[in-house]
Amino acid sequence: MKSIFSVVFFLFALSLSAQIKTTFPVSLLLVPEKTNFEKTSTYADVMAFLNEIKQLSPYISLHTIGKSTLGMDIPMAVLANPMISNADQAKASGKPVVYIQANIHAGEVEGKEVAMMLMRDILLGDKMNLLQNQIIIFVPIYNVDGNDKMEKGLRASQENSPLETGTRENGQGLDLNRDGVKMEAPETKGMITNVLNLWDPQLTVDLHTSNGTWHGYSLTWAPGYLSSGESGPYNYLNDVMLPLITKNAKEKYDLNLGPFGDFSTREGWPLKKFYTYNHHPRYIINQIGLRNRMSILSESFAHERFYQRIHSTYHFVYEILNHCNNHSEEIVKINKQAEWSAIEKVKNQAGTLKKGVRFKMVPTDKPLQHFRTYDYEKFLKEDGTTTLLRTGKIVYYDNITYFAAFKDTVSALLPRGYIIPAGLDTIVEILRKQGVKVTTLEKNQRFSGESFFIEKWNKSPRKFEGHYMVSVEGTFNAREMLAKKGDFIVDMAQPLANLIFYLLEPQSDDGLLSWNFFDLILRGSNVPFSPVDYPVFKYF
Ligand SMILES: [Zn+2]
Repeated sequence: MKSIFSVVFFLFALSLSAQIKTTFPVSLLLVPEKTNFEKTSTYADVMAFLNEIKQLSPYISLHTIGKSTLGMDIPMAVLANPMISNADQAKASGKPVVYIQANIHAGEVEGKEVAMMLMRDILLGDKMNLLQNQIIIFVPIYNVDGNDKMEKGLRASQENSPLETGTRENGQGLDLNRDGVKMEAPETKGMITNVLNLWDPQLTVDLHTSNGTWHGYSLTWAPGYLSSGESGPYNYLNDVMLPLITKNAKEKYDLNLGPFGDFSTREGWPLKKFYTYNHHPRYIINQIGLRNRMSILSESFAHERFYQRIHSTYHFVYEILNHCNNHSEEIVKINKQAEWSAIEKVKNQAGTLKKGVRFKMVPTDKPLQHFRTYDYEKFLKEDGTTTLLRTGKIVYYDNITYFAAFKDTVSALLPRGYIIPAGLDTIVEILRKQGVKVTTLEKNQRFSGESFFIEKWNKSPRKFEGHYMVSVEGTFNAREMLAKKGDFIVDMAQPLANLIFYLLEPQSDDGLLSWNFFDLILRGSNVPFSPVDYPVFKYF
């Protein structure tokens, strides 16, 4: 009797131990998991995690994308099976690269933890299959300097969950998600040079926490918005991939995902309109669209607790990776087609095709149905006026006009290329940093095209990201020009054609002129403005 009992007990104990999943050692537990989700990882915690997991898996290589303002290495982890250790090997493998970037705003911290959780589950858990058809790059702590300036109350809308977070800005006080054009931050330079240009990710996901709108979604998303770029990657994300992931998230995890946006109760209630953010390529996600690649903005709901935001972000990113793994060829094909189309337009329609350079936000074709939100009710104040108060009730509204499309308000002819006079080295330098191919003329050469005559120079009175931004008004004039030996030439028949166009067009609403790159060239220092030709000539 006793021996039978022992055997039964032994089997019972065995079955228990079989149920305990010990896929990773306790040293890989994350700070939130060890602190009841009251704390988030510091830079040292992330580095310790990366170094530890590298000891335990042969499918990860560690890199740095550059140094931050405060001199910290910004770590990058490359996950691949079989292992690869550089971009050439990634290319030779034939597998597309997917890039997951977290902590660009270091107060929005769950992306950082999720990146590490996913690494753990891919390398040591049950998600190794995600490396079957893709290579995954994680930058878990992009804004390293901001991360460790932890304080309470930096993210009022997050209601102290976790108790302390880092700052939105980097070590220079810049918002890294407004730096995509001017590239003033070492982080931006590192990311564009050592991730986008070097590894050429087919899809980028940028992880954020929303700033406080009380919609009813656990996480909202946006594809890189369409301005003057090719529509293929945007259409695939907006019409196919993101709706499918939204459906899966509901069915598999009971998570409510929806498109990104904001409403104003000042417009009355129930809401009729929902607005997204801008189209400008200063936002890295939008810029990637101009680079003919796919990109997704992820914004978890600020008012949910830290652990809930981890939950929604984890499953969103997992579903994206799963989708890419299963549709990698399709994604590469769509991006390739976009790149081909951008170059073909330059070759065949330069001087005839007009593309937008300034845009306004307009409604999408289809209004939002079954829009999920916390409800507001009218409340009579003591002075007899009424106000709207948010309730704890979740409701659904139909036919919400969704402002998430962009219509051009000013357009310009697509050129075959641009001539930049010798001496404008700052312009050439920023273009090259973006990955643009710029060459030098070896002999004098005549070009026909257009120059832009600037009649009006408007400088914003408000400082934004350290800049008083500029816009100009004027007219294009058809003419010939003799470019001299030593002048720079930008042949637009290259993959970044759409980005070059946005950067160099004088009337662009987010170009190099907007960000003061031409101030000194055009105005000297503080001379009053007199009408002048924009120095960059476009030839057809
Ligand atoms: Zn953010």
